[in-house]
Amino acid sequence: MTRSSSRAPSDAHFWEALGGIEQPSRYIGFEPNHIRKRPEEIKLFFALAFPEMYEIGMSHFGIQILYHILNREPDIAAERVFAPGPDLYERMVRENQPLVSLESKRPLRDFDIIGFSLLYELTYTNVLYMLESAGIPFDARNRDGKVPFVVAGGPCTVNPEPMARFFDAMVVGDGERVVLAMTNAWMNWKNEGAASREDLLERWAVIEGVYIPRFYHVQTDGLGFRLRIPEANVPARIRRAVVADLDRAAFPESPLVPFGKPVHDRLRLEISRGCSRGCRFCQAGMIYRPVRERSISTIMKQARAAVDATGYEDLSLLSLSTGDYTELERLMDALMGHCEPLHVAVSLPSIRADRLSKPLMEAIKRVRKTGFTIAPEAGSQRLRNVINKNLVEEDIRKAVEDAFSLGWQVVKLYFMIGLPTEEDADLDALVDLVKGLRGLLRSFGKHRRGEIHTSLATFIPKPHTPFQWEPQISIDEAYRRLSSIRHRLQMPGISVKWQQPEVSFLEGVLARGDDRCSAVIETAYRMGCRFDGWSDHFRFDRWMAAFDAEGVDPTAFVHRKRELDEPLPWDHIDIRVTKDFLQAEHRLAMEGRPTPDCRQAECSGCGACDFDILQPVLCRDMPEADRSDGLPSGVVERPYAPRWKSVVLRYTKTGSARFLGHLEVYNLFCRAFRRSGVSVEFSEGFHPKPKLSFDEALPIGLASMCETFRASVDADTDCNTLVERLNHALIEGIRIIGCEPAIPASKGQKTQSNGATYRVTLFRNGFHREALVRFEQADTFEITRTNRKGITRRIDLKQIVPEIRLLSDTSCEMRLLHAQDAVLRPADVLRAVWQFPEEVIQEAEVTKVA
Ligand code: SF4
Repeated sequence: MTRSSSRAPSDAHFWEALGGIEQPSRYIGFEPNHIRKRPEEIKLFFALAFPEMYEIGMSHFGIQILYHILNREPDIAAERVFAPGPDLYERMVRENQPLVSLESKRPLRDFDIIGFSLLYELTYTNVLYMLESAGIPFDARNRDGKVPFVVAGGPCTVNPEPMARFFDAMVVGDGERVVLAMTNAWMNWKNEGAASREDLLERWAVIEGVYIPRFYHVQTDGLGFRLRIPEANVPARIRRAVVADLDRAAFPESPLVPFGKPVHDRLRLEISRGCSRGCRFCQAGMIYRPVRERSISTIMKQARAAVDATGYEDLSLLSLSTGDYTELERLMDALMGHCEPLHVAVSLPSIRADRLSKPLMEAIKRVRKTGFTIAPEAGSQRLRNVINKNLVEEDIRKAVEDAFSLGWQVVKLYFMIGLPTEEDADLDALVDLVKGLRGLLRSFGKHRRGEIHTSLATFIPKPHTPFQWEPQISIDEAYRRLSSIRHRLQMPGISVKWQQPEVSFLEGVLARGDDRCSAVIETAYRMGCRFDGWSDHFRFDRWMAAFDAEGVDPTAFVHRKRELDEPLPWDHIDIRVTKDFLQAEHRLAMEGRPTPDCRQAECSGCGACDFDILQPVLCRDMPEADRSDGLPSGVVERPYAPRWKSVVLRYTKTGSARFLGHLEVYNLFCRAFRRSGVSVEFSEGFHPKPKLSFDEALPIGLASMCETFRASVDADTDCNTLVERLNHALIEGIRIIGCEPAIPASKGQKTQSNGATYRVTLFRNGFHREALVRFEQADTFEITRTNRKGITRRIDLKQIVPEIRLLSDTSCEMRLLHAQDAVLRPADVLRAVWQFPEEVIQEAEVTKVA
């Protein structure tokens, strides 16, 4: 009998043994363009934390910008950390493992500064989830010298109070303006030796945009609301930090390319920041002013570099209102000129109906039709005037008509209910508008069945908007209005979706709440609330129980109309737009009078600009050189490869790369080809794809030394060059080990092997020789397997496993032949022959070796 292995899993091993964990590639951390530095060269370890799972966090562009800015500094290492999925969290608790960063698997608690991005109120409990997983005290005042400083940034900090207790510092405004000032202050503080934690906070407190909650005491007003009053030597109000010139702001030209299915799996180019349309419900339209556009020459320089560095097949323009970019058609022309030959699609999110010209739509169509979305927000013209959405029905009809005539099949419409002054007549108008658009689509003929997807959300009167004094409608009233609309739009060709009113209610409370909410958030977390933004995790009953337990009435934050002159819990935050302007806008709203966009009319005096350093920056006002693609005349963009040849490439998939799924590997190779500069042939049709054909899909968790795929590549690239360039563009664990001309296969034919040999290494147990002898001596060794259709079959393992060879106490090699009608894996053999428990099997390292 062999002895049991004494190899206990080490900390590092825990993060490599991800078998049985959902979407394990979330936790691998060596995506293309990741940065891992040598720890001995680092003075400051900065964790960029996002209180959501990887797929959502990696879709946030801000984290990419900060990653790039911080990692440019030779003595700073910035690494990412996301909320672990519930299954991994359970395993972490069971095995007493703390939360670690993606790159170096450094425990979060060992970083010097942790910077959380707060983008959405319903991620607040996840901050506590991550702090607890890292072993960091929740309350900033309970952190001693060795515990990292915990900082927050992102749009939610414009009302920091519900979360202020949990942070040492909060950043209001553009993080890239502030982050290096904070890290420099930290370096100086550290170099000076024995200074206290408080001392660093005092240095941070004088940086524009930085709020140190502990330096502002709480005072209760006459209505029971809590306000922040500054102590001595700190600014009375925290002024939003703003990047004045986007052309000079840092841009990640080699952004990380996430694994899996991130919400935004495409290259994003930020073409402008801020919006001065002045929609009165829109917080982003107030807190990011003024409009600052990037020049076309800078965008094109960034686009070329980032397409080459990422290999992305989709590119999306990022801004609050892309259609308002003042030279959009010129920009699209330049981008298409670069992207079309490379089969890179360009999409334009959040575009206003009145900005969608036919030439623009034609331009988008040239590579790939992307989604088509219009946000009328309100159904009636009266209500659109109240909210300052200067969009008339004719614009909406024309945009939809043009979209359909150009081949789009689906139009998405966004509306809000519960807007100030809304009456049933406005809901009737909404229904009529959607029905009218449906009629328009149907008029294109019986063979063109268009779809209208209507999304409805309950209006939330967010802080720092002209509607911040208005009440939010109750949950019951929201249901009444939503049901009335849905009932009347139940017809073919229209779908209606809405955000659950309970979610909007809680979002409103946490957006508008004061510091009493922090106790509620902590109690809700302790009651099990986390991932509240996910409908399957959202537990409204627990939240209400948490408000009850803390004696806080949530309705007081949202259902009461406030006086225009009463103090508000976020008054100590100065977003640069003045309260006088917001009050004036509120009055105009009630009169249904519009305020023009300062890009088209004169300045409306919102207060955001000082007209010295800060003012609107528009591409149309820039010199001609900045409004062109920046290429010297005569330079031609990359041409197509004229001839193609088919090759078979052999590759290995080892280490943590074994946790990449088949689609992830496919995407990785597609993008690696683009990054390597080796041209690959594309299929024809609406969605051209690189011609890569894989023989077999390798299951997640299985390593391999012998995978193959076919590719149709530029005939002028020899195999050695191809291997070298492709390997340079690949990641740790995926290596091309051979390339040879493909033998022509008949159409659809795939290589089918007779089976494979696997090496299995165990980490907790050893292989008992008796069990193997029993298997070897048996004439038959039957197991039962149930296939996906629920049909159970008996399979004789002796027919499928001709050989098992022990290599050591903890490793063996086994050969598996293909079974008819069943796919057998080494895990099935471990289960049947040795009867190992599932956790041992999940942790085993299995490699296909031949
Ligand atoms: S201060 Fe004037 S120009 Fe500047 S964003 Fe406000 S309205 Fe526009």
